[in-house]
Order: sequence, then C-alpha cells, then structure tokens
Amino acid sequence: MSRVPQIDRRMALSVAAGATLSAAGWPAVALSTPFHRTRPGMTGWPSDTAWEALNTAVGGQLRRLAEPFAACAVPDGSACRAADALLRNSFAIGDDPALTQASGWLDAWNAAPSAYVVAARHAADVAAAVDFAARHRLRLVIKGGGHSYHGASSAADSLQIWTRPMRQVVLHDEFAPVGCRDAGNAVSIGAGARWLEAYQAVTTAGRRYVQGGGCTTVGVAGLIHGGGFGSFSKRFGLAAGSLLEAEIVTADGQVRIANPSIHSDLFWALKGGGGGSFGVVTRVTLRTHALPHNFGAVFGRIKASSDNAYAQLVGAFLDLYAARLFNENWGEQIRLGPDRTLTLGMVFQGLEQSEAEAIWRPFLDWLAHRSADYAWSTPARILSVPGRHLWDADWLRANAPDLIAGDDRPGAPTEHFVWAGDAGQAGQFIHGYGSRWLPQSLLDPFRRPALAEALLRAARAWPLSLHFNKGLAGAPAGEIEAARDSAVHPAAIDAFALAICGAHGPAAYPGLPTSRADPGAGRERARRVEAAMSALRELAPGSGSYVSEANYFEADWQSAFWGPNYPRLLDIKRRYDPSGLFFVHHGVGSENWTADGFEKR
Ligand SMILES: Cc1cc2nc3c(=O)[nH]c(=O)nc-3n(C[C@H](O)[C@H](O)[C@H](O)COP(=O)(O)OP(=O)(O)OC[C@H]3O[C@@H](n4cnc5c(N)ncnc54)[C@H](O)[C@@H]3O)c2cc1C
Repeated sequence: MSRVPQIDRRMALSVAAGATLSAAGWPAVALSTPFHRTRPGMTGWPSDTAWEALNTAVGGQLRRLAEPFAACAVPDGSACRAADALLRNSFAIGDDPALTQASGWLDAWNAAPSAYVVAARHAADVAAAVDFAARHRLRLVIKGGGHSYHGASSAADSLQIWTRPMRQVVLHDEFAPVGCRDAGNAVSIGAGARWLEAYQAVTTAGRRYVQGGGCTTVGVAGLIHGGGFGSFSKRFGLAAGSLLEAEIVTADGQVRIANPSIHSDLFWALKGGGGGSFGVVTRVTLRTHALPHNFGAVFGRIKASSDNAYAQLVGAFLDLYAARLFNENWGEQIRLGPDRTLTLGMVFQGLEQSEAEAIWRPFLDWLAHRSADYAWSTPARILSVPGRHLWDADWLRANAPDLIAGDDRPGAPTEHFVWAGDAGQAGQFIHGYGSRWLPQSLLDPFRRPALAEALLRAARAWPLSLHFNKGLAGAPAGEIEAARDSAVHPAAIDAFALAICGAHGPAAYPGLPTSRADPGAGRERARRVEAAMSALRELAPGSGSYVSEANYFEADWQSAFWGPNYPRLLDIKRRYDPSGLFFVHHGVGSENWTADGFEKR
C-alpha cells in the first residue's frame, strides 16, 4: 500500500470540510513520496459500503460500468450486430456513458469504460462525486457529449461524472451576471446539453441566436471550455466569447459562480483553457444575438483534369476567398484532395440567396469557360434556409432531407438530427489527425502563391480541409475583443482559417470484430497525415493548433494549444486544483502526471 502523504490528507480533510477556496488559501503541494491514484484491487480503493454511501449521496445515480461489447465474444450474435448498428448513431453513443464518440486512436488510446459513473442531476451530485474522488484518491473524468478526440471523457479504473441529465435550457430577457451591472438577452444551459438542444430552444422556439458548435451532438460545456467555434463564428465569434457566467464545482467540492467579477481568473480559464482541467462546469450562461433572417450554404465538388489545372483552381478559389468571402458573412470549409478535387461546403449568413449567387458568379463563370479543365462531380448548389428553421428538424426533413441524418433508434425523439456531413464520424477510430491556424497575412497577394503551393503539397500527401469559421480574422471588432479576453491561442484570432487533416477507419471499440483492423495500413495513413501537416507547419511556423481538434502526439503542446497564455493557465490551475484532481491528456498541468494520469511525476 502506498503511504498517504500528510499534505494530501490535510488537503482531503479541507475538501471534506468544504473549506472555502481563496487564491492564497491553498496549501503548497510538496509531496515527499510519489502520489498514486488508486485502482480496483489496490488498498485504498473504496469498499462496497463506501460506494453505496456515494450512491445514496447522489440519489441513486451511481452505476458500475461494464465492457459495452461483451456480447461480441460471439461475433455473429445478433446482440453484436445491434451494437454495431448503434455505432453509426452519434446520439446512441452519447447516451451510453461507457462509450466515447471516437472509439480510439491508433498507438495512442483505446476506448475503455470508467469503473463507475455518477449521472449527475445537479451541482450537488457533482460536488458529492468530486469530494468522493478526492477523498479516495480516484482518477476522475468528466463526460459531456463524449466528443473528445483524445478520449478524455472516459478512463479505465476511474470514476466518471456524466453531465447528461443536466440539460435544462432557460432563456432570459434580462440577465446580469452576479456582481455585474450590465444585463441583456441570454440563455442558461445545463452542462450536459448537446448544442442541438440549445439551438432548438434558442432559435427554433425562441427566435434568437446563440453561438455554439457546428456538430449538433457536441456537448455545450466541452466545446466552450475548449474555446470552440460554430459555422457562423466569423460573425458571432467564439462560443466562449459569449460566455457571461458559469457555475462550476472546483476540486475542493465547492459550487462556485465564475464570471467577470467573481473568480474572474477561473472564468478566463474556462474560456478556452481546455475541458477537464479546472473543475466540473454544471451550467453556462451565454449572451444571445438577434437571429439572422436567413442562413445559406454553397455545396459542390470540382475535379481538375491535370496538376496544372488543379493549381490554377486552388489559386482562383483563394483569389475569390480573399476578395469576396473573407468577412463575417462566410464560414465553414473547403476540402482539397490528392485526387485533384476541390469540395465546397461553405455557409453564409446576413446575405440573401441572390446576393450569395452574385458573389460566386465570377468564379462559376470562370469554371464554365474552362470545361476542358474542370468538371463538377457534384454540381454547384446554393441554397438558403429561413433563420428560424436552421435547427428545425421537421422543416429540414420536409425541405432539405439530404442535409441531415436522423436518430434511427426505435422511439428516438424526432427532433434529433446530425448534419449529413458529420454522420460518418460516429465511432471513428482515428489513425492520424492534426490542425494548424493559418495567419491572415498568407492571403496577401504576394504571399498567396506560396499559400497555394503549400496547400497543394499538403493535399498531395492527404486530403485537408480549411475551416474558415475556426479562424477569427475578418470577424467584427467586438467578437475579436471578446476572444482576446479568453485563454484561446492568439493565433486563432489572427487566422483566416484552421487547416485540419485527419484519417480514420470504422469503429474499433475493444470487443468489436472491427477492432482487428490492419494497424499497418493505419500507420501508413498516419504517416501521410503527418506529411501533409508538416507542409502546413512550414507554411505557418510558430502558429498554433486548436486544442479540441489536435494531434494526440502534438510536440510542445503547451505552446501549440495556448501560446503565451499557458503560464497564466498553469498558475490558475495550481490555485484551483493544487493536488491535480482533474487530469486530461495534454491538459493544463498534465505534465506533472504519468500518461495515464495515475501517478504524479
Ligand atoms: C464529430 C465531432 C465534431 C466536432 N465539431 C466541432 C465543431 O463544430 N466546432 C468545434 O469547435 N469543435 C468541434 N469538435 C471538437 C469538440 O468541440 C471538442 O471535442 C469538445 O471538447 C467536445 O465536448 P464534449 O462535451 O462533446 O466531449 P467530452 O469528450 O465529453 O468532453 C471534452 C472535454 O471536455 C471536458 N468536459 C466535458 N464536460 C465538461 C464539464 N461540464 N466541465 C468541465 N469539463 C468538461 C471533458 O473532460 C473532456 O476533457 C468536434 C468533435 C467531434 C468528434
């Protein structure tokens, strides 16, 4: 049995007593013997009686988790086939605390359920679980939507806090954060809500707009904490830029309000400092905005007939982007591939469909006059959706059914849907992945040829996407200012786009037959992703990477994810979580722990 160091017992006692936290009040952490978290079977692992006491404290919301695919020990069994179908449904994955939206990452992590889960109904349940984990020295994880690419919402031998039952959405005409005078339109959202629930309450029912994420099943708290973006972030900024206040349970088990005047440093860290490192957010309140009259999209896929024609196509698109799309009206992405294709998946707001068509007309005419060089493998399509119907499942099903994929479980809520383009990511097993912010200076006319050349070089190695809405250059000054007052890497603010490159295969949860997929082929794909990313790193040396969509193996991750903000984040982490209760891979302060988060270095 490892000896409990004196300092940790004192810490645990202060936690148990609900001691009030103050910046100066934390005991210094100076351990003389290595700190180990406990695992099942080790002395110190809670007894059945202790677990039962926790279960009582959380109103019966504690559950032991089992391997989800035990039924697949008989591979042809119907139970296994049913499980396999489940894995193409992001809602089904999100509803099971034993599953993560990605099933793993080659040579990095494999999905593994936590030992126990508390399905927390409110902050008091969270506080009881945090207190229990601190007292018993457990590895603690937090699951919201489960979309972490690094598998951070689950860990073997851990206690999981699952925020899913906390999904209430309340709209306010006048909300003033505690201790602040300014009031305005806002929405309070339980940490366990998916963005779809937030959009349907705020936009479909409330006729307002809230800036959240693009993917409908991503968790609200996880996205904000990571400094996330939505399709229209070029207009409305970071989701965290609209954060007015958060309720959070810190490592001492206290329920706190963080906003610009109370725990303002913690509040700053919640805006992009990365999920799972500072406490458990239980509720967020976000500014809402006037709803645009309509939203729109431009889709299509163009194939060039030669390398030379492809280079000209990329150059022509960059010219179009720099001249007409690099502004708050336009977001989302294009994709370039080794097969000399340019795929358009752009969105707009603040424009009528006819205005959008006029903007694209010169580019479309340019292509039409070069039919020997270019062919549309998916014809160009410009469409517009009334603002209030963008997340209205009934309207979309009736008017644009090909844009969405529903929740096909028997009896599933009819309002559930994901965008068709996101459906393939459910259960994905990642082979390689990375992102890089591209500074707006690359769009200067004299730098544009080098930009085009680097994009082409990267795309020859592996398909890459430019997510224009994940770089804030071109956004209104107020949204830029809000982003500057966050922990997000400053490179995001100066970027015209985030370049993302990734490769994945079908779901490979342990126990599934597909888990035996060919790792050699996966490694070759990872090598090609890395070759593409290396071209982008050469193009934008010293630029950052988006923490929530990043390489698991990112070198110098502190600087890549947070740049000059890292020292301040680490200081806040040390003050609010001095014993390191909250650990995630490449999260703030994780350098002090072994890779599995069980031993202090
Ligand atoms: C298919 C897919 C689509 C995506 N689309 C977008 C997008 O459009 N825009 C974008 O910016 N990003 C996007 N992302 C990235 C996404 O924003 C992050 O992965 C985000 O952290 C996911 O949050 P979650 O709650 O769904 O995931 P989880 O895995 O549950 O949580 C993610 C991290 O946040 C922590 N966390 C979760 N809840 C809390 C809480 N209540 N308090 C404190 N910490 C918490 C977890 O511990 C974990 O470290 C996407 C990811 C995927 C897989």
